[in-house]
Amino acid sequence: MKVLVIGGGAREHALVWKLRESAGVEKVWCAPGNGGIAGEAECVAPEAGGVAALTAWAVQYKPDLTVVGPELPLVNGLVDEFSHRGWPIVGPSGDAAQLEGSKIFTKEFLQRNHIPTAVMYGHYDSAGGAYSALCAVDWPVVIKADGLCAGKGVCVAANPDAATDFIERAMERNELGPGGSRVLLEEALEGQELSFILLMDGTRHAALVPTRDHKRAFDNNEGPNTGGMGAYSSDELLPADLRQTIAKTIVEPTLRALEAEAIQYQGFLYIGLMLTQSGPKVLEFNCRLGDPETQAIAARMDFDLAEVMMDVAKGKLEPEKLKWKPGASACVVLASGGYPGKFETGKEIRGLEEAAAIADVKVLHAGTKRAGEKIVTSGGRVLGVTATGNALGSALDKAYQAARKIRFEGMYYRRDIGQRQNSAVGD
Ligand code: AMP
Repeated sequence: MKVLVIGGGAREHALVWKLRESAGVEKVWCAPGNGGIAGEAECVAPEAGGVAALTAWAVQYKPDLTVVGPELPLVNGLVDEFSHRGWPIVGPSGDAAQLEGSKIFTKEFLQRNHIPTAVMYGHYDSAGGAYSALCAVDWPVVIKADGLCAGKGVCVAANPDAATDFIERAMERNELGPGGSRVLLEEALEGQELSFILLMDGTRHAALVPTRDHKRAFDNNEGPNTGGMGAYSSDELLPADLRQTIAKTIVEPTLRALEAEAIQYQGFLYIGLMLTQSGPKVLEFNCRLGDPETQAIAARMDFDLAEVMMDVAKGKLEPEKLKWKPGASACVVLASGGYPGKFETGKEIRGLEEAAAIADVKVLHAGTKRAGEKIVTSGGRVLGVTATGNALGSALDKAYQAARKIRFEGMYYRRDIGQRQNSAVGD
């Protein structure tokens, strides 16, 4: 089987890593890939978001299976294009991907189907309307840009100044791009977050192991929101009673709602949950795997990923095939100094081999590229150092031991991945 993976971050490196372990896979391409993926797959030119270029490439190279990492090609309709031609691909159609592509669409979907979520104050297509609405909200308030904003579209605003600033940047200065031209305001929920991801084939579904990610840049949940500074997975995140509650109050109503609204969902459905005192509530849906959650999930996979992906693409998912390593996994993200703000790139990365030599460790590349013999930084999140262990403590020890072997100018990482926090808005 020849497989094409679309995307170029550590999530896609994790997919490439596991696909290559599959018995039936003879070749993996990655579009566009990165400096680390290039050591394990053939990186090819089309950018992840470009439907026409990816289709033209696939006409020529004929992958047997395509697995899509990021949201942009999904929202842009890549799956419609490939499925229409009968090419096996894992991911939802452009219509189904609206569950991520529009936060207002999703909020209304949740409300009309009585799926627990934060109460929405309203949605606005002018800055004036949004400013006026601030008079009648409780603080903190959550402001969400409607469309895709590369992880920068949500603000948990503690006070009117912070809220006004975000609305101005999104709606008046267009700093978030077209995704910021409409916003919704909703109540801020308190609790711990949980990433609960379903794999669906349009009819059947299977849940992946639970994960939690860390969005703030610095220890103790301080600093700005990022794409994710680390993640971990352990079965203790999801005791049996919580699993049952999530199945009953979130998953079953969501599946019923998708069916009732004729949304045929195939691919990964990421359900971002806040575990509040009054039960789990949906913060968001994503139409794909999370990053860095996927790195922690892949490390625990104990099944043939290519086989399961092909089953999904053909509408024949067998949930019992998804087997998981017991214990736990952790991913620590090594980032460029200044990220998520301005940062420099082109810094040589040292110590990759020493880190990779530690047992049960896999160094997954995000923002890296090759420069001759060297690997240099090319993004904000540079590496996801991922490890497994019998328990969370040992997984974290190994990941941090490996992280300490790696050096590049300006590198920073959080030292408290996997430690439980009771912050007001989760982590
Ligand atoms: P989203 O892209 O909707 O997941 O939002 C990104 C992050 O913002 C979430 O992971 C939460 O940390 C935070 N967030 C989103 N909605 C809320 C909410 N209603 N209350 C508290 N925090 C939220």
